[in-house]
Amino acid sequence: MRPARALIDLQALRHNYRLAREASGARALAVIKADAYGHGAVRCAQALGDEVNGFAVACIEEALELRESGIRQPILLLEGFFEADELGLIERHDLWTVVHSNWQIEAIEKAALQRPLTVWLKLDSGMHRVGLHPAEYRDGYQRLLASGKVAKVVLMTHFSRADELDSTRSAEQVAVFEQARASLGSEVSLRNSPAIMGWSQLFPEQSANDWVRAGIMLYGATPFEQTQAVAERLHPVMTLESKIIGVRELPAGEPVGYGGRFISERPTRVGVVAMGYADGYPRHAPTGTPVAIDGKPGSLIGRVSMDMLTVDLTDLPHAGLGSRVELWGRDVLASDVAIQAGSIPYQLFCNLKRVPRIYCGG
Ligand SMILES: *Cc1c(COP(=O)(O)O)cnc(C)c1O
Repeated sequence: MRPARALIDLQALRHNYRLAREASGARALAVIKADAYGHGAVRCAQALGDEVNGFAVACIEEALELRESGIRQPILLLEGFFEADELGLIERHDLWTVVHSNWQIEAIEKAALQRPLTVWLKLDSGMHRVGLHPAEYRDGYQRLLASGKVAKVVLMTHFSRADELDSTRSAEQVAVFEQARASLGSEVSLRNSPAIMGWSQLFPEQSANDWVRAGIMLYGATPFEQTQAVAERLHPVMTLESKIIGVRELPAGEPVGYGGRFISERPTRVGVVAMGYADGYPRHAPTGTPVAIDGKPGSLIGRVSMDMLTVDLTDLPHAGLGSRVELWGRDVLASDVAIQAGSIPYQLFCNLKRVPRIYCGG
């Protein structure tokens, strides 16, 4: 059997969820959209089980998959509904929905519903993607409550640059939010992972009315490029690993792989690993990208191909056929691989495919 696989440590997932709550002092939605960032939404939801305050997914298709597998906790649709006729399903399956546009408010006003909905009303506080304009926010809030179709409105917004610790943008967004929501009571939700981890100074008071939305940190990866105190306490959930399936001894001056992009500068022992971009390993990871070989630091050489990649074994004389290679996990952080490849850990995880996921700690 091909040795490429992704180990998913559910104990680590629970640890990171607890850390999100501890670091924020708030209730936390576990964001498990996009199949839990490649980790498997149903298994992750089951592992978080009763201790979670709720889940967040992108859309109703993702929510129904969870409901069909018996997940009973609250589930928020982060992108809301796309067509008015989804409201019936939202009601039937007891889902919470984001409302980010005026047409959605009209659709709720017109909907025939038996039970009132829980709505998270999104403000555009400066990301300029979705959300109500600050000048329309109060009116939207009042229309929802006046519609008789809504039992509760949570006030929310989303940060555009919380992963940049030197940016003033997050503070500006908080100020826009605070002004737009002034005197609209109730519960609020602003923070994603970088805001939970890096911006506690913007949220000095612990509030029982506060919700955070923890995504990438649940999976144990940091959204920051620099070291960060909360990031050091995360436990990576996914270990992407495989084995050495071939070894080559090359003299100096020989090219390796497609395009001959790597040329040996010295007599070089090359290890071939069963892992490629069809598994989700980033094709643009350059020579020098870190790997761990039997637990020791090593590096990628040459171009990543579809099913294989090559590593330098010259300084690892004990490594050879069958040696275990970690592409990311506890020894090699996904965020470090992402930086090398010009990507982000979010995308590395979401790109995972073909490799079997093996769960432990459930
Ligand atoms: C995906 C998403 C999150 C989670 O973001 P992370 O950076 O992964 O924590 C939070 N809020 C919204 C609206 C999202 O779409």
